[in-house]
Amino acid sequence: MPSRFVLLDRDGTLIVKRPYLCDPRAVELLPRAAEGLRAMRRLGWGLIVATNQSGIGRGFFTWEQAAAVHARLRELLNAEGLFLDDIFLCPHTPEEQCRCRKPAPGMVYDAAAAWGFDPRASIVIGDAACDVRLGRAVGAFTIRTVQTASAVAHGLEDAVADETVRDLVEAAAVVERHMRCVEQSSSGR
Ligand SMILES: [Mg+2]
Ligand SMILES: [Zn+2]
Repeated sequence: MPSRFVLLDRDGTLIVKRPYLCDPRAVELLPRAAEGLRAMRRLGWGLIVATNQSGIGRGFFTWEQAAAVHARLRELLNAEGLFLDDIFLCPHTPEEQCRCRKPAPGMVYDAAAAWGFDPRASIVIGDAACDVRLGRAVGAFTIRTVQTASAVAHGLEDAVADETVRDLVEAAAVVERHMRCVEQSSSGR
């Protein structure tokens, strides 16, 4: 069991973002996502997905459909020799003011309790401001994935990540660099 975990956003980070995705056939890994995850695994990191799916709370699709999407996601990853340790999902709408809709930290705390890790030693990776805010809220290292430079320019002040990258391969390189920094500082060099 891994002792350190990367907390990944799903839509727009791991798979192609499609509004209220509920059709398993429409699940498509982003370019270089599998390669990036493989590199993170090699570095010894567990992989946990945390995703906001308010489409359930809004009645646009069901838990069963969301589960089918995740089954397809796991199938696509398995074909790449990969697996996810866990998937956490918030089904609520913003109006419900739950404890788990990102940027609220509920899913990270649930994952940390289930897998026994310190959220402050985790890494949050996502494409949206709420992912960065979530990471900051739990004291994690944050990596924002953006497809275009303008997305960086439009980033809000409190959602500026520790690092900004284009895809999960670049994110894996940042993970490796971050690990070395932490190891060096903890060994007092
Ligand atoms: Mg996203
Ligand atoms: Zn929730």
